[in-house]
Amino acid sequence: METPLKKLFNRTAKPLKCATAIACALVLQGLAATAQAQTTAVTPATQATAPAKPAPSPTDPRYVWDLTGLYANDAAWDAERIAVLAEIPQLAALKGTLNTATGLRAALDRISAQTQRWRRLAVYASTQQSTDNRDARNQERAGLMRALGGRFSAAVSWVSPEVQALGRDTVESFLRAEPGLINHAVGLRDTLRRAPHTLGAEAEGAIASLSPVINAPSNTRTLLATTDTVWPTLMVDGQSVKVNETGYQKLREHPDRAVRKQAFDAFFKVLGQYENTYGSTLSARVEAGVVNARLRKHPSAVAASLSGNEIPEAVYRTLVAQANAALPTLHRYFKLRQKLLKLPDLHYYDVYPELINIQRSYSADVSAELTLAATKPLGDEYQGLLTQALSMRSMHTYPADGKSSGAYQTGVYGMVPFVFLNHQDNYASLTTYAHEWGHGGHTMLANKYQPPETAGYSLFVAEVASMTNEALLGDHMLKTSKSPAERLFYLSESLERLRGGFFRQTMFAEFELATHDALERGEALSGKKLTQLYCGLLRKYHGADAGVMQIDPQYCQEWAFIPHFYRPFYVYVYATSIVGATAFGERILTGNTQQRETFLNVLRAGGSVPPYQLLKNAGLDLATPQPYQALNQRMTAIMDEIETLLAAKML
Ligand SMILES: [Zn+2]
Repeated sequence: METPLKKLFNRTAKPLKCATAIACALVLQGLAATAQAQTTAVTPATQATAPAKPAPSPTDPRYVWDLTGLYANDAAWDAERIAVLAEIPQLAALKGTLNTATGLRAALDRISAQTQRWRRLAVYASTQQSTDNRDARNQERAGLMRALGGRFSAAVSWVSPEVQALGRDTVESFLRAEPGLINHAVGLRDTLRRAPHTLGAEAEGAIASLSPVINAPSNTRTLLATTDTVWPTLMVDGQSVKVNETGYQKLREHPDRAVRKQAFDAFFKVLGQYENTYGSTLSARVEAGVVNARLRKHPSAVAASLSGNEIPEAVYRTLVAQANAALPTLHRYFKLRQKLLKLPDLHYYDVYPELINIQRSYSADVSAELTLAATKPLGDEYQGLLTQALSMRSMHTYPADGKSSGAYQTGVYGMVPFVFLNHQDNYASLTTYAHEWGHGGHTMLANKYQPPETAGYSLFVAEVASMTNEALLGDHMLKTSKSPAERLFYLSESLERLRGGFFRQTMFAEFELATHDALERGEALSGKKLTQLYCGLLRKYHGADAGVMQIDPQYCQEWAFIPHFYRPFYVYVYATSIVGATAFGERILTGNTQQRETFLNVLRAGGSVPPYQLLKNAGLDLATPQPYQALNQRMTAIMDEIETLLAAKML
């Protein structure tokens, strides 16, 4: 999440963009109902075997968050919304008052305070909606927030041009003259940096007003997938399972290959029937990114997007190049998977089943205990914050009808964050638990050490924080494993994390490059064209031509199922983050206090330093091949160990 002020200033790429602050993203980027935007690369998995005891009732208050700390009830939320709406003209009236140090401070303080009120409204609306998308009141609240967001953005759209008109020398002299501007310094300097890509006040206002329209394709996709599509059902293990997005993700892990194939065939057949509609919604979103880049005089959509957070394009290019260079390692993993699953050949529907089932389930309570135990190497301060947060009703834990899939963390400054889960008592749920509380820990540390204006952090760092927790969890589980079979299970889960987090996300990143490139070259995008582009990448990453895996052309519809594409050029962050988390995890586990503090200082810094620079200062340069090569070596070492276990016939 970015600072509120920075968000207001950040017109270059995605207005009011947040990271773990999914609520902001959900509401303003139209991703409501697709809370997966914040989901880890780890799939919300389900084991075929039933958990030892039935899941607790989704309405058990212990597992349902308490939102009354935000607003006492819906009526209080609406009253506040109307109050915030009424004050919007006063924000617009601040125009022209930034030309003195005290005027600048007064205006920015006011906008910052209003941003926090707006954010609290947005968090309430998005959290409510994601727990029940069927509820018309929730849909209405999300719509009201989109409208309010548009009005709010428009009312402050003059700020960036006005700050830029002051110029660097004047702003710096104001910063020296008015100590109260200190919390705004990061936002102000960032605004000046964006000057070459900021339009005049009138144009900025017009673009800001259009944000609900820009977000419409994503909403349409969500409604099509979650509400309007009639998904087929399959009889599996004596139960009828609806093969919608959630059901498909569950069934693709089923140990019975025939079930997996049936699920794939059923799911992608339906997606294929809507190829044109999905093609239209996605190409509209891609087009919005391309037009935005052109209007703002960026060389390309990817450049425009990355410049928002001051990430060098070399990071994106290095990631894609290094993932491609490491494909032989991925293909070795697929061959190992085929061997462990004892399959005569490998198909795309063989990617997800577990390599070994250790019949262990992890309730939400056990997940809490293990997350605390695994993050012990992060020290007392971190443990204290986490223990306190877990003792509160801060989570919506179990799946329920109408609830969005996936998981996310969100919150407002000064409150323990909220974590949204679909806990299914399996290992994937445990890792998601640790992941989301990695965001939670980050939020709590940043809130503790930063003012609201710089507490918000970029996704580029956010996912490093959450995935480092996953890395620590993986290590803890390996260290406490009691048999070679259990060891194989955790090793294979680590491999899956690297496949899903690094290779799959980079494949998505490459797809985004290809779609935007095509439009920028003047080509048109249709559903069929998107399927074609996606197919080429799917085949390359999975070694189809090298005979590693067979890809049924029908499954090339998969792009239509990925909600993340409606937020262009951000999934790459999951890939760079797993690279970063692998590095930090290894350093923290050496037990070296200084290494641990270096990592915690990254979290404590919130958004006070640009994210690429922040990581670079901590010894992690993601624009160089080295960290990617280290990840490749880690994956190789895990496979070596598994093969040693196999050779010693310990399995
Ligand atoms: Zn995350």
